[in-house]
Amino acid sequence: MTENIYVIGHKSPDTDSVTSAITYANLKNALGMSEAKPAVAGDLNGETKFVLDYFKVPYPEKLTDATGKKVILVDHNEMAQAVDKLDTENIVEIVDHHKIGGLSIGKPIFILCEPVGATGGIIANLYEQNKKEISKQMAGLMMASILSDTVLFKSPTCTPRDKTAVEKLAKIAGVDPMKFGMELLKAKSDISSKSAKDILMGDFKKFDFSGTKSGVGQIEVMDLKDLEPKRAAILDEMNKMKDAEKLDMVVLMLTDVMKEASDILFVGNASAAAGFEKAFGGKLANNSIYKEKILSRKKQVIPPLEGAFKK
Ligand code: MG
Ligand code: MG
Ligand code: MG
Repeated sequence: MTENIYVIGHKSPDTDSVTSAITYANLKNALGMSEAKPAVAGDLNGETKFVLDYFKVPYPEKLTDATGKKVILVDHNEMAQAVDKLDTENIVEIVDHHKIGGLSIGKPIFILCEPVGATGGIIANLYEQNKKEISKQMAGLMMASILSDTVLFKSPTCTPRDKTAVEKLAKIAGVDPMKFGMELLKAKSDISSKSAKDILMGDFKKFDFSGTKSGVGQIEVMDLKDLEPKRAAILDEMNKMKDAEKLDMVVLMLTDVMKEASDILFVGNASAAAGFEKAFGGKLANNSIYKEKILSRKKQVIPPLEGAFKK
């Protein structure tokens, strides 16, 4: 039996990282790499389940320990975000759209990292470049990944290429992208059944800002008022996480996708608080700073934090 090569996205998987694992494994299979198999590094969120159910695509296998496993990383390249017990020498390829986070690998491998709104769009291009047909299902998944990651094109991470890709993919999938997108947003922001911990962990990534060990999460909702009753419990979970994981700060963006603004929650030590206030040019009040026009962790939250802590 040949050994699987797992195509896998980051922990706290989002729609882009799950659908990219599926669509890229499908492309690699079509290109003759029959060992490529999609996997997920954690439980699927409600939005991703909605997408997979909508296009009738089975949920990928869960892989939480990569000991001895060959992998293709999609939608991330930082070891802090990757599946546990991954040996960097077992990374076969990387396809991503994030900053390069200090990875070191002892041999040349295929790495494709482009500054576009979602990994799904990069993969759609790879189908085209390799002249492989995109099925209805795969088109639907790649379209969904772009709509999700760019918050229906509103995020500053969105590029003209993302819009062109959605137009093409929607035609193949046979769906109205904006109508589908609104249903996707609804699924994304349905927090009724989510605990404070689910809200914190749903889209959570670890970062090291010049030695300041941090976690930065994001929850996107259609109305921030829906989160108000859970705010105290969320802050409580953030404090617990900070202590358990020995972090200097835990940040959670409460993003209102309709108002296009974020209430950025903070818990952490005094020097981290000073860096946080510097990053966002404001004073913490009631554990947060509210910022208009902030939707993107990657483009609008991580860079100022990196800058503020730079020594
Ligand atoms: Mg992602
Ligand atoms: Mg992504
Ligand atoms: Mg995201």
